[in-house]
Amino acid sequence: MAVREIRVLGDPALRARCEEVETVDDEVRRLVDDLIDTMEAADGIGLAAPQVGIPLRVFVYDIRDPDIEPGALINPRIVEAGGTVRDTEGCLSIPGFDETVERYATVVVEGLDREGREIRIEADDLLSRCLQHEYDHLDGVLFIDRLSPLKRRMLLNKWAKLDESERRPATAV
Ligand code: ZN
Repeated sequence: MAVREIRVLGDPALRARCEEVETVDDEVRRLVDDLIDTMEAADGIGLAAPQVGIPLRVFVYDIRDPDIEPGALINPRIVEAGGTVRDTEGCLSIPGFDETVERYATVVVEGLDREGREIRIEADDLLSRCLQHEYDHLDGVLFIDRLSPLKRRMLLNKWAKLDESERRPATAV
């Protein structure tokens, strides 16, 4: 298990359309474990494989709710979605920036867990938002793509003015 480097905005790895995992083997399980370590070290609530430069359809989540078990999803599919809700959202790959993003209020996501078993997660509130955010990463989509063109441009301008160290704070949401 290891903490891997989190790629930040501008890194082409974040724009890759990720490939399905063919077999959930030891290598994939190692990736899952590293994603969990990396997410925890960065104090995040979710992390997707492309954020550590691996173009596979894998992400992990832990919304720090005692009633909701953290987990991993491999080859996830959003099979149901309902309603819309706007709330604040950030990304470990764009540290320091939070914006209001519209998402589905509820989603049902199916996929494989770390052991390769089929799972189905019915999510609302923060878990729903987290799963949609991580799912987007697998298609190379970032939350800034869901902002108005004006807001996105303002954010990108601010980002461009940061120096290298400011783009890599010790912790981020
Ligand atoms: Zn993110």
